[in-house]
Amino acid sequence: MNIKFCGATRTVTGSCSYIDTGKFKFLVDCGAFQGKDDIEKLNYEPFPFNPTEIDAIFLTHAHFDHCGRIPILVKQGFRGRIISTQPTRDLAMIVLLDAAKLQQESYERWSVKGKEVGQYRDASSEGTLYEQRKPLFSEEDVEEMFRLFEVYPYGASVDLHNGVEFRLRDAGHILGSAMVEFWVTTEAGRERKIVFSGDLGQPGARIIRDPDMVREADYVICEATYGNRLHKNKDETVLELLSILKQAQEEGGNILIPSFAIERTQELLYEINLFVENKLLDPIPIYLDSPMASKATAVFRQYPTFYDEDARRLLDKGDDPFNFPGLHTIESAEESKRLINKSGVVIIAGSGMCTGGRIVHHIKNHISKPNTHMIFVGYQVDGTLGRRLVNGEKNVRVMNQDVEVRGQIHTLGGFSAHADQRDLRYWLRGFGHTPKKIFVTHADEEIAIGFATNVKTELNIETDVPKLNEEFELK
Ligand SMILES: [Zn+2]
Repeated sequence: MNIKFCGATRTVTGSCSYIDTGKFKFLVDCGAFQGKDDIEKLNYEPFPFNPTEIDAIFLTHAHFDHCGRIPILVKQGFRGRIISTQPTRDLAMIVLLDAAKLQQESYERWSVKGKEVGQYRDASSEGTLYEQRKPLFSEEDVEEMFRLFEVYPYGASVDLHNGVEFRLRDAGHILGSAMVEFWVTTEAGRERKIVFSGDLGQPGARIIRDPDMVREADYVICEATYGNRLHKNKDETVLELLSILKQAQEEGGNILIPSFAIERTQELLYEINLFVENKLLDPIPIYLDSPMASKATAVFRQYPTFYDEDARRLLDKGDDPFNFPGLHTIESAEESKRLINKSGVVIIAGSGMCTGGRIVHHIKNHISKPNTHMIFVGYQVDGTLGRRLVNGEKNVRVMNQDVEVRGQIHTLGGFSAHADQRDLRYWLRGFGHTPKKIFVTHADEEIAIGFATNVKTELNIETDVPKLNEEFELK
């Protein structure tokens, strides 16, 4: 049995692992590469396997860097099954339809305006690759993909009757996120257990539950996004959010929160809902300016069985955690543009790394005002506008314009949807000494190597940091 790492190797995007058991070929995730041009270019490379021969894809969760290349596979003839939880299926559809639309729009702008195009693209990159940025897939490809889904609950062992049994477990990362346990009978007749962490969540997240512990494995494929860092405590982070909101209220400035449509937005709404209902904060208008986030919130409402106890208790008391006085949902682009004249408001808009979407307009209009507060609540990939702002750059290029940054930039790591170094090590310790090897993926190179070295020393288990398309035999 062989495994080939076809993405998220020494980098944080493009998650995709290919396993061939001899009888069954499957992928765990098939996500898009995001960030700098030379990384995004990889989305246009041929797959290092034949898409028509893949029997199944296990999708750990709905983030674009985990599902973004599946429609390309479908376009290239993949007709196997896609296995995930119900919320992952629904959220992935929202994410991918949105991506198809954005790609088409950005391509059309290029076709019309030539090199000048893609104001959205220019938000994040120097933009020399427009010619190659034909849409990767269409809305039709995504619709076709939807038909291939099979959904399973957490905790159910499923025998595929081809020497492979699997079980989805709660990864605690975003709604519906899963880690996957596989029991594979190799051609030599041995049973081997392989566990994929997926993206591992931070214990104590609001709404969703903590990551499950897994007890045994021969091989573990573990993410390490924050393998070198410790997050601030959640309660401290929540208090920090409250004090920034209050400070901005006093200064009469706007608060911009670039947010990932799934999970982070709902967590923010959940916290602000509690501030407002517990009268910790004077009423403040909050604009949720992200149609995708609104759609994702609808999916959250649909699956309360995936919530943790606290969120369920709120629901039982009749409090809708995603709705409170002062919250306005913005749909059309015209309405969004009208927000330019507002002050003393909170604007939550995508995209989370400021690589496109409506947040880019708001940054252009507000970031040069000293009383603007910008709050980052998620990981910012190298090369994105978000990373530049977090790094403290004082001049950034936004939509083809040089803009001076005079607003105040805050980073609230405690809202991260990812486990930190301590959480990752705690999760790995759950395996005891059973793994023959732990593969470290989904982290920048230095972080991945550092984390792998630490784990090797601490647990006395062999580790490896695979390179792109590197293949290993799982004996
Ligand atoms: Zn993720």
